Amino acid sequence: MGRRVIITGVPGVGKTTVVTGALKILEEEGVSYRTLNFGTYMFDVAQKEGIVRDRDEMRKLDKEIQKRLQKRAAQAMAQEEGNVIIDTHASIKTPTGYLAGLPEWVLRELMPDTIVLVETNEDQILLRRLTDETRSRDLEGSYGIAEHQQFNRSIAAAYSMYTGCSIKYITNADFLLDKAVENMAAVLR
Ligand code: AMP
Ligand code: MG
Repeated sequence: MGRRVIITGVPGVGKTTVVTGALKILEEEGVSYRTLNFGTYMFDVAQKEGIVRDRDEMRKLDKEIQKRLQKRAAQAMAQEEGNVIIDTHASIKTPTGYLAGLPEWVLRELMPDTIVLVETNEDQILLRRLTDETRSRDLEGSYGIAEHQQFNRSIAAAYSMYTGCSIKYITNADFLLDKAVENMAAVLR
């Protein structure tokens, strides 16, 4: 039986960067994971249906449509065997409020061993978003980012209650990427 690790964190915190670094270290140790991007699974369906052109438009869709795409993505990812990392979000900030990234019907499909929350100081996240030209990041103040990270910790506790998974916080602070990478490798090893 492979391991399933779900990686979460607010947009711009650097989840993908930390995971990529950790997988490089583990490769040399003969530990391998397949990385699945939840948003990409959703986007593939949404794009085929012609309802979005950009992955950052999905969180603005009607809530029921987001949930339908979310369920489709979870069912597809559940088919993957072996060690799997799922790159996603503990919650999505939508125009009508926080939407659970891993509601009961998603967790039932994925049943993770561990959920990782990649976090850092809200001011650092704000600056990272402002300098990321590749994405349509929401313009949000540091108070909103702090609130989102707080909400993610709360909802992660609910996820652990439902699945029995462990919850790991990893700090990805400025100039300390190596430390975050090492902590991530330790979770995956
Ligand atoms: P990302 O590239 O990780 O920022 O994800 C792109 C988009 O995919 C997000 O803004 C969400 O709209 C969507 N998404 C990713 N994971 C989930 C999830 N677990 N539940 C709902 N939507 C998600
Ligand atoms: Mg990412």
